[in-house]
Amino acid sequence: MAHSTNLGYPRIGKNRELKRVIERYWAGKTSADDVETTAAGIRRSAFQVQQNAGIDQIPCNDFTLYDHMLDTACLWSVVPERFGHQAGTPVSMDTYFSMARGNDNTLALEMTKWFDTNYHYLVPEFDGPAPARMGNKPVEAFQEARDQVGSRAKPVIIGPITFVVLGKHHTKSIAEHVAELLPLYKELLSDLANAGAEWVQIDEPCLVTDLEPDVLALYENVYGSLAAGNRPKIMLQTYFGSLRGNWDTVMSLPVDGIGLDLVRTPGNLNDLLDRRFAPDKILGAGIVNGRGVWKTDLAAASDALERIAKIVGRDTLLVGPSCSLLTLPHDVRLETGHDAELLANLAFAEQRLDEIAILTRLVTEGRDSIANELAADKKRITSHATSSAIHAPTQERVAGLDDAAFQRSEPFSERIAVQNSELGLPPYPTTTIGSFPQASDVRSMRARVRSGKISAEEYEQYVHNKIDEVLKQQEDVGLDVLVHGEFERTDMVEYFAEQMSGFLKTEHGWVQSYGTRCVRPPIIVGDVHRPHPMTVETIAYAQSRSEKPVKGMLTGPVTILNWSFAREDIPRASIAYQIGLGLRDEVNDLEAAGIKIVQIDEPALREGLPLVRGEWQEYLDWSIKAFRLSASGVSAGTQIHTHMCYSEFNEIIEAIDAMDADVISIENSRSNEELLQAFTDFSYERMVGPGVYDVHSARVPESGEMAERLKNAARVLGAEHLWVNPDCGLKTRGDAEVWPSLRNMVEAAKQLRESSAAD
Ligand code: GLN
Ligand code: ZN
Repeated sequence: MAHSTNLGYPRIGKNRELKRVIERYWAGKTSADDVETTAAGIRRSAFQVQQNAGIDQIPCNDFTLYDHMLDTACLWSVVPERFGHQAGTPVSMDTYFSMARGNDNTLALEMTKWFDTNYHYLVPEFDGPAPARMGNKPVEAFQEARDQVGSRAKPVIIGPITFVVLGKHHTKSIAEHVAELLPLYKELLSDLANAGAEWVQIDEPCLVTDLEPDVLALYENVYGSLAAGNRPKIMLQTYFGSLRGNWDTVMSLPVDGIGLDLVRTPGNLNDLLDRRFAPDKILGAGIVNGRGVWKTDLAAASDALERIAKIVGRDTLLVGPSCSLLTLPHDVRLETGHDAELLANLAFAEQRLDEIAILTRLVTEGRDSIANELAADKKRITSHATSSAIHAPTQERVAGLDDAAFQRSEPFSERIAVQNSELGLPPYPTTTIGSFPQASDVRSMRARVRSGKISAEEYEQYVHNKIDEVLKQQEDVGLDVLVHGEFERTDMVEYFAEQMSGFLKTEHGWVQSYGTRCVRPPIIVGDVHRPHPMTVETIAYAQSRSEKPVKGMLTGPVTILNWSFAREDIPRASIAYQIGLGLRDEVNDLEAAGIKIVQIDEPALREGLPLVRGEWQEYLDWSIKAFRLSASGVSAGTQIHTHMCYSEFNEIIEAIDAMDADVISIENSRSNEELLQAFTDFSYERMVGPGVYDVHSARVPESGEMAERLKNAARVLGAEHLWVNPDCGLKTRGDAEVWPSLRNMVEAAKQLRESSAAD
């Protein structure tokens, strides 16, 4: 008989209880016991929801107070020495949170994206002493789950190879680090078996990435060894893509089950149908989307499952999601205030469980047993496809675009001459990335206008006052190109999504971005259309208050797309072009309102790169085109800037060049100027603002050290190509460090101007 499974459940709690209690703990307002009690409550309700939905294999140990990679690092005492942790003792809650967030004396672990999701994990550092097991979290988590859901409880752990590959500071080879961990993993599996676990899910998502041959070869040794010991049945779980070239190796491993993502790419499904699935194993069929928010097309999924069942047999099938439900909001039913027909097409974590149950019934009892569900789903799909709610004239506009729409009329060399003469900026022009400190008064005013406590006019007046104030401060420190400060924006993607049609803004659709930080990504539900100007009034106001140029500030199409839940009925490229058109209208309107410089931020462009290199080019082709679509409607004299929050450019420098932005500002200060190398090797001809100081730290940098950086950059890039700016927006900083830092930055630019005049 087929069974249902789940791979992981959202852990912040339906009302973000976890965030609240942990932040109170940090503030010293509650105890560690209280944190544990709340956490246990969240787990209990997750178990209950999954049990009620009829899920046969309910994950446990998927819960974490901050991050599952951090938990694994603590379990194996992969704790850097700087945290002063005493070897052989369990990591205290305070050390745990110091690793996550740093403290007054110590830098936190680095954080990076969990594969290509928008969840961020903490990167384990392997340069300490040999690992040892500390504490017993997976076993305790299993015992707790077993007490609540009995034999359905299935512990989940990160596999040893993925754990090591995702870490850094490997003082030894990956193989050696894995070898050190292997006996610890074996002991853990044995403990889980002794505690009564029937299955263990071992996550090895690295198997869908491009692996070095020696790393792939490790899988045989490691899983051979794990399988040989006392252990539960092993479900080797992969997700976020297809196994591709790793297929044969994975099929040959002596594990009891293999979990495949059958949603993300057609690869795994095709391989299942065309190639051999190991006859001795259970297939974990990831058939419902664990990371998107659109309901599963039940008929299509049923077709696929029936074909699969013919090949592997009904009894060896586990029906589940394509990956952990970690990055989904909890429950669509919490959403009100939206068209019910539209909401009927969405599935968050709880709704996914129901889909899994229905599809499991299909496999065990046949298609007739879900006839009602299939009929209802067909109706839903037909009515959604023709719904007027999702159609705007943008599709026709995108279809009608010719090549010229993606291209500025003049090449950079001509544009820059016009811009230089119109803008009249000095060499080493100084500017900032856009946002300035948002103290609590900004947030409280925003809340007050939303709740109707103050009028829209009062709020606008308040924003105008803030703009006046920040312009004056920028003039006082002597910046050349000013910004309005972005006080009206909480989250930049949310800000634009609210003003364009085609987006649905959820009330409760929180997902974990990292630790206690949660975001509510907008959902792109239909054609995107900009019904009216979004920023023009505000920017034009700011420009009217200063003699200096004020930059218009927009978020780029690729970033808006990558930080939203996208619709799935049209290609991502088409969505990006639709957003690009809305932004293009905005850029053109800004130009018409007399704005000479417009910055279109693309901090998420690089992080959207596919996991597999073979897919990069296709992504870059359309994402760069979408950016260009937004930027190419203006005349030569209008200067287009873009901004990116990272510096690993070497691999995509050609694509960055192809964006054809007149000026690009980038993070540089934390990466030891490695990026300069990329720009020289490529001989980049446009202007670059390599961040001269790190905005992630509260330190006020001296002008001398920034001047040094600028000299280096000038040597590599040429002085005439340089802009001077911090490496990101200043929203999260305080006024106390922002203004002295900027004053020093302007001073550094002056020093360079003087020394180059003297040459
Ligand atoms: N203009 C934005 C800001 O300054 C850019 C934010 C970002 O790079 N993520 O806040
Ligand atoms: Zn940035």
